[in-house]
Amino acid sequence: MATGSLTIDLDALVRNWKALDARSDSGVETAAVVKADGYGLGAGRVARALARAGARRFFVAAAEEGAALREALGRGPEICVFSGHMAGDTDMIGDLDLVPMLNSVEQLTRHFEALPGRPFGIQLDTGMNRLGMEMAEWAAVAEIALAAGPTLLMSHLACADERDHPQNAQQLEAFRAMTDGTGVPRSLSATGGVLLGPEYHFELTRPGVGLYGGLPFDEAAPVAHLALPVIQTRELEAGESVGYGATWVAEEPCRIATVAGGYADGLIRAMGNRGYLFHDGEPCAIVGRVSMDLITVDITHLSETPKALEILGQDQSVDDLADAAGTIGYEVLTSLGGRYARHYSGGAG
Ligand SMILES: *Cc1c(COP(=O)(O)O)cnc(C)c1O
Repeated sequence: MATGSLTIDLDALVRNWKALDARSDSGVETAAVVKADGYGLGAGRVARALARAGARRFFVAAAEEGAALREALGRGPEICVFSGHMAGDTDMIGDLDLVPMLNSVEQLTRHFEALPGRPFGIQLDTGMNRLGMEMAEWAAVAEIALAAGPTLLMSHLACADERDHPQNAQQLEAFRAMTDGTGVPRSLSATGGVLLGPEYHFELTRPGVGLYGGLPFDEAAPVAHLALPVIQTRELEAGESVGYGATWVAEEPCRIATVAGGYADGLIRAMGNRGYLFHDGEPCAIVGRVSMDLITVDITHLSETPKALEILGQDQSVDDLADAAGTIGYEVLTSLGGRYARHYSGGAG
């Protein structure tokens, strides 16, 4: 079989959720962000495993994701939509009990007119300048919005992965100024904010990447395990080159394995001549460029020819691999392609 094998460890996912949950006081609810198909790992499977472990609230980016998630989860868990209530979303929000995080007066008006009395949250902008109402806009509508009973007031930190960044405290202060005294449950923190400490937790935290084994949660257990089958091996003489552009040339006789997986599978081309695959903990350098469907690896030092080499797992985290490609773990995860044979392990069913 010439496709990689992606194993998603749902027990590790649940452990990560519980470990992040344990970072806040017992009165604080820990939700789960499962946008972008659960960071590429399958929103339905991920969310069902977390719901069984006790998660009661999930966040997605778009109403369409919320609709798919509702089908996977059934009635019960709350599904919140970061992009709010967009034109065309009304039926999905209404029929499937999605909770839009309203981002503007326009969205607030749309929601109140189309679905009066139905639940909503409010997203406030505290300095990221991406989504949410700004201070002046919020001041103008807060009274009306609060009278309608929002389920949540939320904002998002721009720099939470940098513990000492001054913007963290500035956004915390702005969030307090906009929400203190409202009596409405509040949420400011994603994975990074959970790790900043209790004053950032409020009533609800919303970790995403840490659940899936990514930084800034450096104690996360790996969730994605990806093994690429070796299709062929060959011996090279000194002076022979490997791959497109002949960018790597053997300095001495060596042994090269060609594995199934390439940039069409989300294995980012920039890791050519930089990244590593692993065999029983032994690193094996990627040599030459990453092709669309293939990667070439130096296995000269291995005592046996492996059937497959691991590119994600115990020996290499999503962030290690991201470093080799000049990107972040989030992008490695959400790039994982559709060609892999996907297996789910654990998760209590
Ligand atoms: C993606 C996202 C999260 C989760 O962020 P992580 O860094 O993955 O934990 C939380 N809140 C909002 C608004 C987001 O867009």
